[in-house]
Amino acid sequence: MNIWAPLRARPGVDEYKVGERVAVEIHSGCGQCKRCRSGMYTSCTNYGQNYGEHDKRHRANGFTTNGGFAQYAVNHVNTLVRVPDDMSDEEAALAVTARYVDVWLHRTRRRASRGRKVVVIGPGPIGLLAVGVAKALGAAPRHSRGHARESLGLGKRLGADHLVNATLCDAVEAVRSLTDGKGVDYVMDCAGTEETVNQAILMCSRGGKICLAAFPHGRVGIDLGHAVMNNIYLYGIRGEGKSAVARAIALMAAKRFDANLDPHPTFGLADVPKAIQ
Ligand SMILES: [Zn+2]
Repeated sequence: MNIWAPLRARPGVDEYKVGERVAVEIHSGCGQCKRCRSGMYTSCTNYGQNYGEHDKRHRANGFTTNGGFAQYAVNHVNTLVRVPDDMSDEEAALAVTARYVDVWLHRTRRRASRGRKVVVIGPGPIGLLAVGVAKALGAAPRHSRGHARESLGLGKRLGADHLVNATLCDAVEAVRSLTDGKGVDYVMDCAGTEETVNQAILMCSRGGKICLAAFPHGRVGIDLGHAVMNNIYLYGIRGEGKSAVARAIALMAAKRFDANLDPHPTFGLADVPKAIQ
């Protein structure tokens, strides 16, 4: 959960009132390194340097500081985004997931996404929201590749034009046949396995771009030769950067996609261990 209501503000912070709901960007940059000064505070070169003698002020909720399960948390005013009155807590909490997609499209020049072909690999929460955001930003056609039939159905409702069940067919062949053999402009890999990263490379057209949104569990061997020979760009992203949560909230407030379609079972705080399990 990444929705908080300010209980108390430091003197001089008058942007928010006590009791207002806010979504919180996970990262707060040190504000002094060259990455932070260009808006890429998720790439802060002082990442993790926020303890003891090395307090460079970088914060990453849930990683280097307390996250959404803490009863109270301190957040820099720069990381807060006001939640519209007509948006539920449940929906607003998903803005922090949707921002992943937005920051990638932003970094790869979001206007280029209009009318371009996009594949999303992995029908988990980030993958499903990726389909919704791609639709909101005008990409077409959008392909969702995954295994679970239920999740793929959800991908369709969120705006996928084609669904590819990777357990039933060769996903690369399926995408290539849907694109006259040329491949797509963008692939967003939300699975992070050796299989899916290589599929992403082979699904791309020449000059295509791949967003690596998942955290692989170990080393991943890839067909680098194919990527280099075909001018395929690989983008590693971590977190939001450049105020992506604000843009995600704006897209959701404008009903550009329905994050509520994403399944989000809820648990009480006492059941946190069960929820994580
Ligand atoms: Zn920094």
